[in-house]
Amino acid sequence: MPFSFIESYETARRLSSNPTGRPAGCLDLQQTRVYRAKNMALARVAPRSPGRALRRFYRRLYRHFGPQRWWPARTRFEVILGALLTQNTSWANVRRALANLRRARALAPQKLASVLARRLSRWLRPSGYYRQKTRAVRAFLRHLQRRHAGSLTRLLRRPADALRSELLSLRGIGEETADSILLYAAGRPVFVIDAYTRRILSRHGLMPETAPYADLQDFFHRQLPRDAALFNEYHALLVAAGKTYCHRQNPDCPRCPLGIELEPARAR
Ligand code: SF4
Repeated sequence: MPFSFIESYETARRLSSNPTGRPAGCLDLQQTRVYRAKNMALARVAPRSPGRALRRFYRRLYRHFGPQRWWPARTRFEVILGALLTQNTSWANVRRALANLRRARALAPQKLASVLARRLSRWLRPSGYYRQKTRAVRAFLRHLQRRHAGSLTRLLRRPADALRSELLSLRGIGEETADSILLYAAGRPVFVIDAYTRRILSRHGLMPETAPYADLQDFFHRQLPRDAALFNEYHALLVAAGKTYCHRQNPDCPRCPLGIELEPARAR
């Protein structure tokens, strides 16, 4: 019986709390209709093989956009600051805040830790929500000093799970930020999930947009080789597609390199 991956995902979730032995993916007709009515606003028939689809998406995006050379930073510390500052703002604003720090020669943990909160807050202002971000940066620096004697190397060489938990325990660091640090500063093979990734997967019928972060990440981890360089490039390419074509309103599918992956909606 043919079924889409997203249906098998939802069924697996349902069965995980009631393991009857029924194979994942065997949705009945009513469940399938409900899913399609709710989730298939734009297209399409979900790919039969999500792993192959993900690899194809990658090739199409890479051919179209080329290498993205992420993360746009000169040092691991800049990556971490960028990950903290990029929440709820554009990268252009983050760049302006980082430029302030660079001009002040404060782009190093020890130097930044000695700066007064008011001054730091002034430098971070262009990144928006600057008071919260000042607190987050200072909390990170305090933690680095107390727990790792100010050494980024000591922090970043911790085992991936321990490092992730440690980062998540800090003020202002959520899953996307922690994983950005793990992938782009520590070089660990963890896939970063952001709003663009959710939107693109959901519009192509691969995962629901509202799926928990861990499930979306697990989807990539299960379908692709655990390779930091691949995850680095793939996430950056999804961001490029999201920014350029996959807008929340009016996605530009005809010009998008993934447009060819959308099949015409079936008559329902
Ligand atoms: S804009 Fe691109 S990624 Fe978004 S739904 Fe259309 S084809 Fe897919």
